[in-house]
Amino acid sequence: METAKEIVKEVAKRKAQKVAFLVFLKYILPILLVCALIFGVLFMILAIAGSFVQQDGGLEGGEAVNLSEEVLAYRPIVEEYATEYGVEEYVGIILALMMQESGGRGDDPMQASESLCGSVGCITDPEQSIEHGVKYFSQVLERAEGDVKLTLQSYNFGGGFIDYVMDNGGSYTQELAIDFSSMKYEELKHTGNYSCVRPEAVQYNACYGDIYYVDAVLRYYDYTLVIEGEFAMPVQGTMTSDYGMRSDPHTGEQDMHTGIDFGCINHVTPIYATHPGKIVYSQFHVNNNGTPGYGNLVMVQHGEQFITAYAHMSSLNVDVGETVDQGQKVGVCGSTGSSTGPHLHFETKTGLWDGHQNPAEVLGIGDL
Ligand SMILES: [Zn+2]
Repeated sequence: METAKEIVKEVAKRKAQKVAFLVFLKYILPILLVCALIFGVLFMILAIAGSFVQQDGGLEGGEAVNLSEEVLAYRPIVEEYATEYGVEEYVGIILALMMQESGGRGDDPMQASESLCGSVGCITDPEQSIEHGVKYFSQVLERAEGDVKLTLQSYNFGGGFIDYVMDNGGSYTQELAIDFSSMKYEELKHTGNYSCVRPEAVQYNACYGDIYYVDAVLRYYDYTLVIEGEFAMPVQGTMTSDYGMRSDPHTGEQDMHTGIDFGCINHVTPIYATHPGKIVYSQFHVNNNGTPGYGNLVMVQHGEQFITAYAHMSSLNVDVGETVDQGQKVGVCGSTGSSTGPHLHFETKTGLWDGHQNPAEVLGIGDL
């Protein structure tokens, strides 16, 4: 038998439970809902921010960039044939290739006539050009065992380059491209049909095709498009020369100084990428007329129209096509090329060789 006391106790217990439930409904539940909402919003913000971070996913993971309207208009047709020939993950590479070949202009935007019929001009319909170009790309890619750089260079040199590479190590290198070009040029120069497309190729006598074709295509692929955040200093050193008109240290004449200079220690001071990007140039530079130029030069592409250059270095630490982080070492201080002593000549510009801007303004360090 329950006593009256126990009944009262039971009623009180139920009442307390009811109150607790009401408190939960009225106060705690809304707080939980608000927390969930805040976490949800935070998660979305992080996810969106994350999607802007460039991933270094290798050649297959990138995207074609800086394409002309004409090339962009061909994307659906390229996608269609890329799917048909089993190279759908290479659509970006193929669009970059088309950009380099023609910029999307003309009746043969993939410049596929030679691989179809052995001579230029047999293709007169853009769709036929794309179909054959994509098919040819897929065949070369297969023969190149998936080596995209070898595939691209063979698109320019012809299939003979694949056999040459397979006999000499099995994967694309710039040296093999130069050796092959100079060998073919030696063989064919008597025909008078070949001349150097680039002044840099003359020194190697490599005037068959374009020895820098891979880099030329990859300029249209996988660059970081968003410029944001701050810039790192390219070197630990004192600024020694401003951007702008100055009297040339060699001739004494008034001349345009297209960058800013920093003092540094020869063979010692590291030079850093000032912003994340992709290496678009890394070699010894000589002016077109043969006079000393930038010496050991690295150029980093950060955005569609934003390049930084690091000149006169004693050594180079990066290769073309590589992506670099902000603050990554690209070379070592030097005095190579047209230089009167160890220093870093640093440029910011919109094109590889033009569109110079005052780097002091870009870096936010002010003039001397
Ligand atoms: Zn300078």
